[in-house]
Amino acid sequence: MATLDTLKKALVKKAAVTTTAKQSLSDDQYSAGFDFFLKDTAWKTYQDFIIPQLSQLLSPLFQSRLRISVLEIGPGPKSVLGHLPDDQRQKITKYDAFEPNKLFASRLEEWLRFKPFPNLEHAASLDRSAFTSRVDVYKTPGSQEQRFDVILFCHSMYGMKRKHEFINKAVNMLPDRPGGGMVVVFHRDSLQIENMAADRTLTFPTGVVSVPDTDDDLDSFAQFIAASASHDDSLRASWREVCRGLGVRDTVHSGRISFSTPEIMTVFTRDLGYSGYLTLVQEMRAVKNRQAGRRHPRGIKQPKNIESIQQCVNWALKKRTGLTVLGGGHSGHCLWYGITAIDMGILKNVYVVTAGNTMSSSLIVAESGCSTGDIIRRCVADGLTVPLGARPSVGAGLWLQGGIGHLSRLYGLACDAIVGAVVVSVDSGKVLSVGHVPDQHRPTHAVQVDGKDLLWAIKGAGTNFGIVASVTFKACPAPTYTVRSWVLSFNDLVSARAKLREFDNLFARTLPRSCSADAYLFWNQDRLHLGVTMFETSTATSCVPLIALTRAYTIFGPERGIQTVDSMGVFDTEMYMSEMHGGHGGGKTSSFKRCLFLKNIGEDTITTILLKAIESRPTPLCYLHLLQGGGAINDVPADATAFGCRDWDFACVITGVWPRDQDGSKQATAAVCWVYEVAERLLPLSTGAYSTDLGPDPRDAALAAKAFGPNLQRLARLKQRWDPNNVLAYSYPLPAPPKDPKLIVLVTGESGAGKDFCAGVWVSLFTKNSITSSVSSISEATKRAYATASGADLNRLLEDRDYKEQHRTALTTFFQNQVNERPQLPREHFLEVVHGADSDVLFITGMRDKTPVVAFSHLVPGSKLLEVRIEASEKIRRVRRGLETSGDTDERAEKHTPSITISNNAEGKSAAIAAFSRHLLPLMLPSLQRLRDIVRQITDFPKTDINFRHILGVSQTRGGLSLCTSLLQTHFTGGWSQISSIVCVETGGFIFASALALKVDVPLALVRERGKLPPPVVSMAKDVSHISGIAGNKEPNEVMIEMEVGVIPKGGKVVVVDDVLATGKTLCAVLKLLIKAGVEMKNISVMVVAELPFHKGRELLYNEGFGSVSIQSLLVFGGA
Ligand SMILES: Cc1cc2nc3c(=O)[nH]c(=O)nc-3n(C[C@H](O)[C@H](O)[C@H](O)COP(=O)(O)OP(=O)(O)OC[C@H]3O[C@@H](n4cnc5c(N)ncnc54)[C@H](O)[C@@H]3O)c2cc1C
Repeated sequence: MATLDTLKKALVKKAAVTTTAKQSLSDDQYSAGFDFFLKDTAWKTYQDFIIPQLSQLLSPLFQSRLRISVLEIGPGPKSVLGHLPDDQRQKITKYDAFEPNKLFASRLEEWLRFKPFPNLEHAASLDRSAFTSRVDVYKTPGSQEQRFDVILFCHSMYGMKRKHEFINKAVNMLPDRPGGGMVVVFHRDSLQIENMAADRTLTFPTGVVSVPDTDDDLDSFAQFIAASASHDDSLRASWREVCRGLGVRDTVHSGRISFSTPEIMTVFTRDLGYSGYLTLVQEMRAVKNRQAGRRHPRGIKQPKNIESIQQCVNWALKKRTGLTVLGGGHSGHCLWYGITAIDMGILKNVYVVTAGNTMSSSLIVAESGCSTGDIIRRCVADGLTVPLGARPSVGAGLWLQGGIGHLSRLYGLACDAIVGAVVVSVDSGKVLSVGHVPDQHRPTHAVQVDGKDLLWAIKGAGTNFGIVASVTFKACPAPTYTVRSWVLSFNDLVSARAKLREFDNLFARTLPRSCSADAYLFWNQDRLHLGVTMFETSTATSCVPLIALTRAYTIFGPERGIQTVDSMGVFDTEMYMSEMHGGHGGGKTSSFKRCLFLKNIGEDTITTILLKAIESRPTPLCYLHLLQGGGAINDVPADATAFGCRDWDFACVITGVWPRDQDGSKQATAAVCWVYEVAERLLPLSTGAYSTDLGPDPRDAALAAKAFGPNLQRLARLKQRWDPNNVLAYSYPLPAPPKDPKLIVLVTGESGAGKDFCAGVWVSLFTKNSITSSVSSISEATKRAYATASGADLNRLLEDRDYKEQHRTALTTFFQNQVNERPQLPREHFLEVVHGADSDVLFITGMRDKTPVVAFSHLVPGSKLLEVRIEASEKIRRVRRGLETSGDTDERAEKHTPSITISNNAEGKSAAIAAFSRHLLPLMLPSLQRLRDIVRQITDFPKTDINFRHILGVSQTRGGLSLCTSLLQTHFTGGWSQISSIVCVETGGFIFASALALKVDVPLALVRERGKLPPPVVSMAKDVSHISGIAGNKEPNEVMIEMEVGVIPKGGKVVVVDDVLATGKTLCAVLKLLIKAGVEMKNISVMVVAELPFHKGRELLYNEGFGSVSIQSLLVFGGA
């Protein structure tokens, strides 16, 4: 299936040789051509890509605004935005469109009558002229240029030449402030936009348009694609011929022919004055991957040193845009439409660092612009090597993503040899040194980081977490290679199958790790061929095993060629370079590959797929390459490095190849489809997939799910940690990390109080309410470590209560010793349990921390964290534990109040059920979510990088205040009838407390700034609020707050109500004021509408002595 661009080129070429005049399309002709893109298979592009992606893209902007203004350019007969979900359409209060096609304009006008945007403040404005990049027609009568939050170029910028001028014009019509809106352009993959930095680019490579194979339809379609009408019958006939030649018959809908229409969505935002900050190179070097080479990046930066990589990263962070990295240029990810690329090409030094006299202690430091050949060339001189890949031109992408080569069985994968790296963080722009980097190669300003996560991730998924400036490899002794090759041909599949089985079972499997055997299945001169190459390595300490050779001769006969070469010479021995297809198309080919890991390739099911695959190759040059695994690859546990897939005998590289001059043709598309089809058939039988070069193509999703073995979730979390802004958005697409539970309940209490029992009851009750929930014990990790250290039986420690009792004291001592050595251990255990949960509600038992909400809430800022303490009398607890003595008690921290305390003395579930209905279920009811939805998030307010949660905005939304106050009323864990005053501090507190006071009929006690209340007053110093502080308001650092003396009756109980708990400074001052006014600590509770745990407000309050004050928040929000 040819792409539309190939079709367009072919149609225009035909038109160029005719002499008849070409005309622009009439409205009718344009409309007829356009219709093909709005129905049948083409509609899938809208359904599966444009509409869902657009909705997701617009979501943060729509969330942050009360009103949204939109401009659509060339929407056609129906607005694209009109397909957004209801809640997004309801936010649109201004709709303008330019639609020059009269037919479409009338249909659009008709459609707008049905009010697709129900909240428009003025009638939709429909301009029937063409949008233009020059004339200043967008001014309102008062001559102000109009501004729009969203501007959409709806369909491929059809007919617009000098496209960047149109986009520039539109960008200048966005609001003039950070985060001020976006221009979204939909186009086909050939769009070239000069010198414009795209904010983001999303692709949909699998779009298809199909056309009925009738003369009328093809005429209409061809003139639309060629963008010129013709009445010349012979031209029309030749255009039809071109369409029929390049399209493919639709196998699902007979009588139609299809074309591939890869779709791209590019987002532009205002360039906030950072353009010109980067010096970009004018000439792009030729990249090996031709698909990537056709993408037009915004520009290329060639850093000369690590500082210029930092400059580039800082630029991207300020502009909130992504970057790509160009290493050896073999993947499809190194260049991306409209995105700035960092070309590492200049940084290509290789250093050999020897320590001591032994080769085995030598290190190789390779800058990331090196190719495989550069490294090997430098190493050979010192008799050293690194286990890299088979092609000398391949770059850093190989060792950062795995790296399979002829030495893998002997020395492991390329990534296994990495012991350290210098990385520019795409989170902070800082230079990080991770793992072991020799002193002289560690930049002086590098920050040393713990390699536990970052080095682990670099070893197999290293293109996703930072810009790697250099890596340090452990060097290996360079071997001499003896390379033997055989090529066998077959008349039938049966004998081919038998030979493949022999290759696997009798030959490859028996090889020692110093040898590896590759197999190639290809078709040449009408016959199926099996090529075999055996690489024998010999060093001073190993030699060629004769028995392997004898077997080879028995199975394959005499070899066709034999060479003895060094580490550089081995690059020229690849079979496909010389033997396959007579030198493989003279090298003038393009290719597309996917790689799966297989065991037992000699098994019938697998050989059948392999042989059928090669039989059904769509071009003569396609082949299957089987690279041998096992040996040292398998010595490394799957979770010891990010690479993850270790258990395989062969990496099967399915390689679709076509002549280079056929790029974009039917043949090329068919070769790519063939690769995916074969991969799909092999996938269920595979033990994993090679992540390298997987991308956004939906067909990669199934392979991606099997890449990285057990490590995918950990990688997803590390991506969030090391690249939170998704600067490296165009490398391998890791999935979003699973969301933390919405509610985490830490179930605490003394032994025998019934913690596990209650947690079990609550899980079953949540399940009955269709809310997913689970229980985990945080002490499991400790029990595991204790069992290993002491030889105790882990299963009994987990399951057997009596056995657990016997080990209780020793276990506690063991844990305390562990924590003395690693104080961060409890946090790590907590996060492990949270991240391992796959439910909306998580109950955690076995908690040893005395103030767990204070200690852990900032670690899970997006989850509501509660401590529910279960209490029971000593007698009951003793009975439940089956003990005579009371045993040790779980001491509570002094002056600490759990979120909820439950008395569980009665037999049965009654206490647990009551607590569930009163306290737990309400936290998961939709009303809280409704309140959350009302809170708008405004990015970069009051300054860059702050996501402001507009809590007071709740009162500006219809129904918001009454919803919020009724939630404050019902969620309060105390009883309102016992409360004598609601204490509130201006301004936020006044709003919510006043409305609440009305509902619960409790008087207010007002806290105001000095001088606003009549004497006598009590006063207290208060730091500026969190938000004033970050806004840099010119206020004094400290103000005095006051409350009237006597406003709270003696011995009265109070609830402090405020809008936000962030740093806790305001609340701390209010609590001190109350104590000064004579209110007893035990009589104070706090309720806030929203909490931002990131700022550790609870910790401050605890440290200031207010740990025993109960603090409840309705909502929690992650982020600053
Ligand atoms: C002809 C050919 C032969 C191959 N042979 C082998 C082989 O023998 N063994 C094997 O395992 N694989 C092999 N591959 C696959 C190869 O490893 C991948 O295509 C790899 O991605 C290529 O890396 P590159 O640097 O050349 O390409 P690029 O396209 O430049 O880079 C690949 C990826 O790495 C990222 N990247 C590059 N440098 C950095 C950096 N410094 N920091 C962060 N990210 C970076 C890029 O952004 C991109 O996402 C081969 C591929 C081809 C086309």
